[in-house]
Amino acid sequence: MSVADARTRLTAQLVGEVRPAESMARHTTFRIGGPAAMYCVLETVHDLALALPILEEEGVEWTVVGKGSDLLVSDEGYPGAILVLGREFKRHAVEGGLLRAGAGCVLAHLVQEAFNRGLLGLEWAVGIPGTIGGALVMNAGTGEGWIGQVVDTVTLYVPGEGFVLVHGRDVAWEYRRSGLAGRGIILEASMRVSEIDPLRIRARMERSLKDRKATQPIGLPSAGSVFMNPPGGSAGKLIESVGMKGLREGGARISPVHANFIVNEGGASAADVVRLIRAIQVRVKSETGTDLRPEIKFLGHFEEA
Ligand SMILES: Cc1cc2nc3c(=O)[nH]c(=O)nc-3n(C[C@H](O)[C@H](O)[C@H](O)COP(=O)(O)OP(=O)(O)OC[C@H]3O[C@@H](n4cnc5c(N)ncnc54)[C@H](O)[C@@H]3O)c2cc1C
Repeated sequence: MSVADARTRLTAQLVGEVRPAESMARHTTFRIGGPAAMYCVLETVHDLALALPILEEEGVEWTVVGKGSDLLVSDEGYPGAILVLGREFKRHAVEGGLLRAGAGCVLAHLVQEAFNRGLLGLEWAVGIPGTIGGALVMNAGTGEGWIGQVVDTVTLYVPGEGFVLVHGRDVAWEYRRSGLAGRGIILEASMRVSEIDPLRIRARMERSLKDRKATQPIGLPSAGSVFMNPPGGSAGKLIESVGMKGLREGGARISPVHANFIVNEGGASAADVVRLIRAIQVRVKSETGTDLRPEIKFLGHFEEA
């Protein structure tokens, strides 16, 4: 019973690739993170159905990752298996007012596809990185909308239960949180779309992208907003108000462009980022009384997170 045995069995049986000691810095938008003991691409539903029992039998922990655009992976890496959804989970189709997409689809591609086809429903998501799976877990969104508003159904694979269909109306959708987190592996979602003249949404989408470019440090690796906005407030403004904008810790820096972004200026470690996160939380709490809660997810072992 070991990671090595699991790796040998998975390599022999999966269609998808199984990589040992894969640097997670290659798979996160922060460009930070130590090695995962195993990185498995599940190309098919069959791969998924084979992999989970093997990992269970070998006692290997696992987690599913999308594009790693909301993740900080520890410098020591992850001791288990990182599962990534491949080929069969990257398909999409439009049928009768629904856009059905595999959880591995890149949200930005679907936004573009919806726009090209004159479909209203995902235009608020322009500029948000990541996959449909990640967007559903995070209830990804902006001031203009969020994914939970358009979800009709979600298909999950729940270990021990199998395939489970959940209706969007039965999921608790909160600001950057959804009731789907921790329920299983999201495989697919159907989202409501309606026909529209693309020219009617084009200006709005272009404005959103322009605003993003002007207000966010787009050119440097990051994981987007580090903290959730407190009710009625702005995490970025609070951090700026306590004078921390631009502060550095090793290769990590509180962005001088947007104080709720921590950027990797080159060679930043997860420990650097965590030190900045802790320093922000302590100073903002002591000077304003506000508790800032991380929006980003942590993977692996962290002393202080
Ligand atoms: C520059 C930048 C700007 C951003 N702007 C925004 C924004 O405007 N709004 C916003 O909401 N977010 C924003 N984000 C954050 C991020 O892009 C979103 O949260 C995105 O939805 C995460 O998707 P992902 O595929 O990268 O998920 P990951 O980071 O890979 O994973 C996020 C979580 O989802 C889980 N997960 C992923 N896929 C599955 C699956 N198939 N089944 C079960 N669990 C799964 C992971 O285990 C993890 O817990 C931004 C990030 C960056 C880097």
